[in-house]
Amino acid sequence: MNQETNTETSQVNGTSASSSAPTKKREDYLEWPEYFMAVAFLPAQRSKDPSSQVGACIVNPENKIVGIGYNGMPNGCDDDLLPWSRYADDRLDTKYPYVCHAELNAIMNKNSADVKGCSMYVALFPCNECAKLIIQAGIKEVIYLSDKYHDTTEMTASRRLLNLAGIEYKQFKPKRNKIVIDFNSINHSGMHNGTLGIHSP
Ligand SMILES: [Zn+2]
Repeated sequence: MNQETNTETSQVNGTSASSSAPTKKREDYLEWPEYFMAVAFLPAQRSKDPSSQVGACIVNPENKIVGIGYNGMPNGCDDDLLPWSRYADDRLDTKYPYVCHAELNAIMNKNSADVKGCSMYVALFPCNECAKLIIQAGIKEVIYLSDKYHDTTEMTASRRLLNLAGIEYKQFKPKRNKIVIDFNSINHSGMHNGTLGIHSP
């Protein structure tokens, strides 16, 4: 952040000296929370789950990403041989006993020694099983986007655990509802445009 400020200052100074048109920095760049939530959404596109694609991103206090995950079957377990159903007469024929949630995978995939004191960005409010993992991993804050299962037993238990453990959770309210990654933009855009096409609500 300081670097950006410094750059801006030097440009302003340069402009006054040369009296040429100022080159302003981009104003529509992603702010950190939007960026981390977007990073949480991207790996969700890797999910094979036909009904729910969830991603999670763990960020340390220095704003560095230390873990990413999405929901999927455990490593080495052929996801063509396990069920993806939400409903079945026998629970063993549903996905629930098998699938690893995004939060679990993000924690297990961490590229740091631990995730103590980190924040987790996740598309959906974490279930009670993930709340246990978040607590035991030492994560201090959860930023979620959707709370669509708020009234279920799992989410109620999750809030109870997170509250008792003193872990903060807050809903992310995006300023824009869509971020488009356009691979072509790098070829035809000017210097002021990045590779992200940003659509305001
Ligand atoms: Zn979960």
